[in-house]
Amino acid sequence: MTSELSVPELLALDREHVWHPYAPMPGVRPPYLVESAAGVRLRLAEPVDGVRELVDGMASWWSAIHGYAHPVLDEAVRDQLGRMSHVMFGGLTNEPAIRLARTLVEITPDPLQHVFLADSGSVSVEVAMKMCLQYWRSRGRPEKYRMLTWRGGYHGDTWQPMSVCDPEGGMHQLWAGALPEQVFADAPPTEFEPAYVEHLAALLGRHADEVAAVIVEPVVQNAGGMRFHSPRYLQALRELATQHGVLLVFDEIATGFGRTGELFGADHAGVSPDVMCVGKAMTGGYLTMAAALCTPEVAAGISRGEVPVLAHGPTFMGNPLAAAVANASIGLLLEQDWRGEIARIEKGLRDGLEPGRSLPGVRDVRTLGAIGVVQLDHEVDVAAATAAAVREGVWLRPFRDLVYTMPPYVTGDEDLARITSAALVAAQAG
Ligand SMILES: *Cc1c(COP(=O)(O)O)cnc(C)c1O
Repeated sequence: MTSELSVPELLALDREHVWHPYAPMPGVRPPYLVESAAGVRLRLAEPVDGVRELVDGMASWWSAIHGYAHPVLDEAVRDQLGRMSHVMFGGLTNEPAIRLARTLVEITPDPLQHVFLADSGSVSVEVAMKMCLQYWRSRGRPEKYRMLTWRGGYHGDTWQPMSVCDPEGGMHQLWAGALPEQVFADAPPTEFEPAYVEHLAALLGRHADEVAAVIVEPVVQNAGGMRFHSPRYLQALRELATQHGVLLVFDEIATGFGRTGELFGADHAGVSPDVMCVGKAMTGGYLTMAAALCTPEVAAGISRGEVPVLAHGPTFMGNPLAAAVANASIGLLLEQDWRGEIARIEKGLRDGLEPGRSLPGVRDVRTLGAIGVVQLDHEVDVAAATAAAVREGVWLRPFRDLVYTMPPYVTGDEDLARITSAALVAAQAG
């Protein structure tokens, strides 16, 4: 099978049969065919513009924090494969999943004690929302079924998560009227503004009777626009949620595992949500797995209800292979000076991107932890910007008005400099 197809044949088949993210069918822009990956480099099946290897500035949508083909992660998968790759989670359990749950409980804020292992980030958000709605239903408050969030967020592409994504961000606008209608606050300002807290307070006060939970991405709104906000808003949300009797959900799928400079976004604010979602970097980018954690209060509320179970159970729930590599990935992260490494990356990104501030068409440059963003004053030409970065030997995937990077934490200083200079070239090209 493998050796029979040429690169043009593979790309023709891809175009004809394979749906890609946010793409039409058949595809219009040919993707780049990756043959293998190691460290922070992607190796293309054949050179494009004379370039065969790309320094990866995206970490495979922010998940491959230790880079590719890491010996420790490879070994963890191989070792688990020798035992079993999967067994069902209904009525059976497995050690990697149990260990993973224990670790997640240990490293997340204290009140989070219970772990639902889901098979993707979006599903973990579905589960988190179901937990919140069911909690209130079990407590005799079924009218509390809406979610409150702020604009500019992104929580996944399945139905319920779509309903709390930015309603005007473009991606899910089509579904206005068909999606559950949630309560939206204005997008959070970057700096702390008391007036914005008043806005949140007023909105929560007005809707407390129908709102089950507030859901936000803490500290950084990611796929909704790569916007940063003051952690003090999270403290305000915690107080307001408690005061108005609504639950608080942090979607840490993008921000978790060190990306923002703290282990979790919540740690910037020293607050604890009632429910937390993690995913993406959890398995080091090897396999798909996410989790929704909750407090004993939420779990007990659900389990004392009229239907005293959480009716959710994906086929691949608790997958031992994914859990084993997640355990290895979290272990690798915690045993190193991750704080020092993220600080090093933050400095590299800042040094490399700040000069972009004076370039024509650039509206803003911002960095936080291992996140570097160049925001343009226009919609980026994705194909042109991507091709420009590829010519520089770097993989970037811009969207909307943003050229950004979230590189693997193992990216060395020289490769970081390559990524940032390619980002500026891409920003000019797109
Ligand atoms: C990526 C992402 C999701 C969705 O995760 P998938 O694994 O792609 O389903 C949800 N929330 C946030 C904040 C994300 O960044």
